[in-house]
Amino acid sequence: MTTNEEAFARAKAVLPGGVNSPVRAYGSVGGVPRSVVSARGAYVTDIEGREYVDLITSWGPAILGHAHPSVIEAVQAAAARGLSFGASTSGEAELAELVIGRVGSLVERLRLVSTGTEATMTAIRLARGATGRDLLVKFAGHYHGHSDGLLAEAGSGLATLSIPGSAGVPAAIAAQTIVIPYNDIAAVEALFAERGSEIAAVITEAAAANMGVVAPQPGFNQELTRIAHEHGALVIIDEVLTGFRVGPGGWWGLDRSYQPDLVAYGKVIGGGLPLAALGGRADVMNLLAPLGPVYQAGTLSGNPVAVAAGIATLRAADAAVYSHIDATASIISTAVSAALAAEGVAHSIQHAGNLFSVAFRDSAPVNYADVKAQDSFRFPPFFHAMLAAGVSLPPSVFEAWFVSAAHDDTAVSRILDGLPAAAKAAAA
Ligand code: PLP
Repeated sequence: MTTNEEAFARAKAVLPGGVNSPVRAYGSVGGVPRSVVSARGAYVTDIEGREYVDLITSWGPAILGHAHPSVIEAVQAAAARGLSFGASTSGEAELAELVIGRVGSLVERLRLVSTGTEATMTAIRLARGATGRDLLVKFAGHYHGHSDGLLAEAGSGLATLSIPGSAGVPAAIAAQTIVIPYNDIAAVEALFAERGSEIAAVITEAAAANMGVVAPQPGFNQELTRIAHEHGALVIIDEVLTGFRVGPGGWWGLDRSYQPDLVAYGKVIGGGLPLAALGGRADVMNLLAPLGPVYQAGTLSGNPVAVAAGIATLRAADAAVYSHIDATASIISTAVSAALAAEGVAHSIQHAGNLFSVAFRDSAPVNYADVKAQDSFRFPPFFHAMLAAGVSLPPSVFEAWFVSAAHDDTAVSRILDGLPAAAKAAAA
């Protein structure tokens, strides 16, 4: 039998850090990452044959659970018809119709791409093309993928590794992004008062979930949109993580009281295959080539196998799926809180719909500075105690926990059973 240690040693000899995406390396929790061989329902199995209840779910896409039969069947049927044509298929329009059916006025046109990074990158280019302005505003702790202009004070792996920005980003490009604190309307107002006429767009995670979960304060997204629009800037909401996960219409679908111009989707929309999208107002979206002057293209954009996975996933993610995930997330997060409280560990459970995470501090964080001011040293022992109990959590205190429709009573019991020892480990 190959062990996880052997698999990781082999990978490190040929892949930087042994991984193809940084957080997978267990850098902030220590130890050896599990090498996964298969996943089904709520479980993943590692190369040693050990099975874990999975609360990563591919960092979001597997909302139905891993290897859901209707998704696998759709993917197999699509693959049998050919893997990629470099020409349009009717599935692309069908997927766009499904999205529009869920979010109505938010998306009049949709462009399919392959990753969330491409979706946000293209949305920003479009906003610049539409406004003739260069500046971009983002919030500290928000993650929008790894394109040059979006890595300043970003969440996700950069938060985990304490990297303020990335080497290799030209200063001239970094200077086009202004980073301000999240949930701070006064900061938005002050910035727009000073530089409003230069700002092409504000990009915001619809609800932040890459510095742990930090929901927007009531009215924040609305006020932000009002101020940006007053100054002729566009609003891009990033729903790569929240889209079609926190509800049928994503975070925006839970509260339609404001009107962003563009939206980025990823993860769930591709059902586990590389597919993402940007959408929005027709007049802005129609600036994309071939209709307009803003260029974007992709050999594998709208790939037929990925589109089939996305369609099957959205079709299966019905109201019952969302209510199951909401209820299950609530049971797990309540139990986490009770276990930590029983050990006297200061914590705050952070929610945005069915997404949640634990912050090891007394009061609820509302921004990145708050999130960084927590006893994050408590997370690695908590994480490893859960892993020993057969539960795979995201290996960073700065990531959301993902529940799927396949997390049934048996899976939840295993999580709850692991919590007392994990809370004890966190308290030590
Ligand atoms: N935007 C958000 C909110 C994300 O959470 C992510 C990925 O985690 C991205 C963008 C980037 O997506 P991808 O990893 O598919 O490039």
